[in-house]
Amino acid sequence: MKGMMMHRPLLIADILTYAAEVYPDAEIVSVRTEGDVHRTTYAQTLRRVGKLAHALKGLGIGTGDRVATLAWNGYRHFELYYAISGIGAVCHTINPRLSPEQMSYIVGHAGDRVLFLDTTFVPLIEKIRGLLPDDLQLVVMTDRAHMPESGLPLLCYEDLLGDHPESYDWPDLDENDAGSLCYTSGTTGNPKGALYSHRSTVLHSMMVALSLPAALQEGKRILPVVPLFHVNAWGLPYAAPLTGASLVFPGPALDGDSLFKLMEGEQVFSAWGVPTVWQGLLGTIRKEGRAPNGFGDVVIGGSAAPSSMIRAFEDMGINVCHAWGMTEMSPVGTQGNLPARMAGAGADAKLAVKSKQGRRIFGCELKIVDDAGNRLPHDGEAAGELFVRGNTIISGYFGNDEATQKAMDAEGWFGTGDVASIDRDGFLVIRDRTKDLIKSGGEWISSLDLENVVMAHPDVASCAVIALPHPKWDERPLLVVVPAEGKTPDFEDIKTKLSEHFAKWQLPDDMVVVEDLPLTATGKVSKLTLRERFADHVLPDA
Ligand code: AMP
Repeated sequence: MKGMMMHRPLLIADILTYAAEVYPDAEIVSVRTEGDVHRTTYAQTLRRVGKLAHALKGLGIGTGDRVATLAWNGYRHFELYYAISGIGAVCHTINPRLSPEQMSYIVGHAGDRVLFLDTTFVPLIEKIRGLLPDDLQLVVMTDRAHMPESGLPLLCYEDLLGDHPESYDWPDLDENDAGSLCYTSGTTGNPKGALYSHRSTVLHSMMVALSLPAALQEGKRILPVVPLFHVNAWGLPYAAPLTGASLVFPGPALDGDSLFKLMEGEQVFSAWGVPTVWQGLLGTIRKEGRAPNGFGDVVIGGSAAPSSMIRAFEDMGINVCHAWGMTEMSPVGTQGNLPARMAGAGADAKLAVKSKQGRRIFGCELKIVDDAGNRLPHDGEAAGELFVRGNTIISGYFGNDEATQKAMDAEGWFGTGDVASIDRDGFLVIRDRTKDLIKSGGEWISSLDLENVVMAHPDVASCAVIALPHPKWDERPLLVVVPAEGKTPDFEDIKTKLSEHFAKWQLPDDMVVVEDLPLTATGKVSKLTLRERFADHVLPDA
């Protein structure tokens, strides 16, 4: 017997029309590339999104067409999210940190018809115009007064909106239609596309809102440092309007001083981003001797949050939520809120749990398997490749059957490429990427576990552990360290600290000191680059 309930499609445009009606005055504040701070509300934004939808139609954009963006976090980028998906087209966000070859590859692979770009990126597009399709239309996201001089035929965003009507009759799309597209910033091979549907996007927003209720509520102000150009800023442009939270977009300046000033000025309660960004902010906090006024919550994900970073925030009374996910998962898979029974626990016990990668959010199933694909117990000990299943996880890569076949298992689960264990309370612990694990004499060593301890050393600003080939043991760990300001890290001293947590054979064989670590397009340490850079490094007993 079937239930007798209406079936309405889950559509992205409905999120903003809802916010405009129920939370009309919640704000979107943006640091603009023009240099000033811009303020608007969800109600005003819906009206501009209506105009933009008409303008897109005017450019010839129809259902299923791909429209690309190359832009920082700001209100115009937010408007594009809703207008493009709202008319039934696909919003393809491009990461500006990709190489020109990768960028031209994905524009071609996606079949983009129009590219909307911030003024900042005009010189970049001028350089690579020859690599892009001839018929790609270019729209600069600014007004007439700020249009840059250029030899390229550039359209102006505000002119395009012109005097189009503010209301748009949003079509009743199929909820399974594609709404947005994001390519993984693969460090090897070509990037692969995750094509999100309206349904997956709305469900993901609700899942995120349910799982992170401290930040996502009416009256709270959230700073997405995590970019709109990568995995939909972890779903914030949808989850915030859904819950009535306000958004503060930082624009291009993401250094500690700029973020501190913006957060204090805008009374930001919750800030979301990758660990490298919080390292910068913590530097400013130490300089100022205090946290920005009103700051009470930080969501850290994208790479492992070092325990020393979690402790630094928590010691200031700022709640840390350590989350895990990936592009292919929309992206959020877990949330790091403490179990209620731990409310009265000591700081060390809380830190131990917060350093794990959190518990799965509703709708995202997790399994770990051994090399033969057998399920492993969730006992906190067994570690194996992590697979996921759910409504917000890709069923395959866009236009890439080969990668799809590699990623999916026989039961239809998606292989994350992460090695993990899951404890009896359901907390996930990411031990490593499969390709970053160090295999020494048939046993493996987790680079993440070693890094976590080294990061707490006062002489270390940041670090990475990579595998180097070894004639006897196959691979051995090399520690790469960036010193804290004015410090000279001592390898023997670091090894003594590590010995408190690891067996002797797990300790790094050698240490090299560098000025900084290479980052990927999404702000993670690029171990691939480090492995290439130190390929000829000879370990002491190799
Ligand atoms: P991306 O698709 O660029 O978001 O990268 C996803 C990958 O980042 C995951 O498969 C993990 O390897 C890594 N990652 C994300 N969040 C965390 C976390 N909290 N701890 C450790 N690794 C993480």
